Amino acid sequence: MIESDRSRPGPATLGVHAGSEPPVIGGPVAPSIVRSATFFGGFGPDDPLIYGRYNNSPTHRAVGEKIAALEGAAAGLVVASGMAAISMALLAFTRAGDHVVAARHLYGATHDFLERELPRRGVEVTRVDPERPEAWRAALRPRTRVLYLEVPTNPTLRVVDPAVPAGVAEEQGAELIVDATFATPINLRVLDRGATLVVHSATKYLGGHSDLVAGAVAGSGERVEAVASLARLYGPALDPQAVWLLDRGLRTLALRMERHNASALALARWLEGRPGVLRVHHPGLESHPDHALARTLLRGGGGILSLVVEGGAGGADAFCRALRVARVAPSLGGVETLVSQPRFTSHRQLTPAEREAAGIPDGFVRISVGLEEVEDLQADLARGLEAVLALAREGKGAAG
Ligand SMILES: *Cc1c(COP(=O)(O)O)cnc(C)c1O
Repeated sequence: MIESDRSRPGPATLGVHAGSEPPVIGGPVAPSIVRSATFFGGFGPDDPLIYGRYNNSPTHRAVGEKIAALEGAAAGLVVASGMAAISMALLAFTRAGDHVVAARHLYGATHDFLERELPRRGVEVTRVDPERPEAWRAALRPRTRVLYLEVPTNPTLRVVDPAVPAGVAEEQGAELIVDATFATPINLRVLDRGATLVVHSATKYLGGHSDLVAGAVAGSGERVEAVASLARLYGPALDPQAVWLLDRGLRTLALRMERHNASALALARWLEGRPGVLRVHHPGLESHPDHALARTLLRGGGGILSLVVEGGAGGADAFCRALRVARVAPSLGGVETLVSQPRFTSHRQLTPAEREAAGIPDGFVRISVGLEEVEDLQADLARGLEAVLALAREGKGAAG
């Protein structure tokens, strides 16, 4: 692998070099895209079968290795989307009659997969508040095979130490699968905290440029092979071009996360307590309920911050419409700052009362802080807040 004086190279080094071929005189410095759908072999029973749908071309394998190195895992696999990684992982470790315990607040499609797809296949699911080990333990049944968690959660950025359910999973002999899309291996290596498999939407920070859809899993060789063998049947193959783009993104992951972490925290601090702002969520803020844990667990609070503006839905609409640098779009983790209102995106299926109970009242805006100059972003958010205050003044004027 990598030659370095340190016993374990750091993430910035791994992001650039892990998985790459040793240098050959006259060979290319940048990796090539191997576009071939199939590969020579098959003369005998021991020849490897390499095929595009198997996600095992040299291009796929190199990037799988890089993600494994970043996560501190023995093996890694890239697939066609984050949901492909999540669904294949959940199917690989369950069968009819089994039971899954999952955290209450999860990515929308994961929520639907747990609530609709798994039950259709005879797998029952119990949802718990993930902060308490007793909650995980109380939900166990004899056939609980998987515990499932996201860190941090979307969009209130709650942080749970995976070690909490990891102890319960180990006693039970169950898997602990953690979606670390928001954390990335730069901010938290969940396998070090006892997760047995990590899953990612590589569409977000790992790719980092909002120009590809991909997923990844990493863990022990046996577990990753269990997911890979199912993916060979269901067929979520990642196109080699997208694999190459993902590798390109990974080369700057550590650097980008440093900037995402710093800018999001700076903006969260600036926003907190400003006129027009009711609440700011970021794990780096002392007001965040998990701040103490985040300080010891995470290497950075992440690039996402959320705020609640005055004036409810109208206030959030005015805020979003006034922005000139940040753009309104779903998704996150790219170089550009994107804002969204969960009531129109991730949490549109819930009623306003259900959202309120989940800590997402109308007026809630999520910001995926990009890599622009933080001063420009701050000026942009100031424009947004000016619009929120103008709306409040109009409202008062109309009332009076
Ligand atoms: C986006 C996202 C997913 C789904 O990933 P896709 O690449 O869109 O399939 C899963 N989990 C989290 C936390 C996400 O943000």
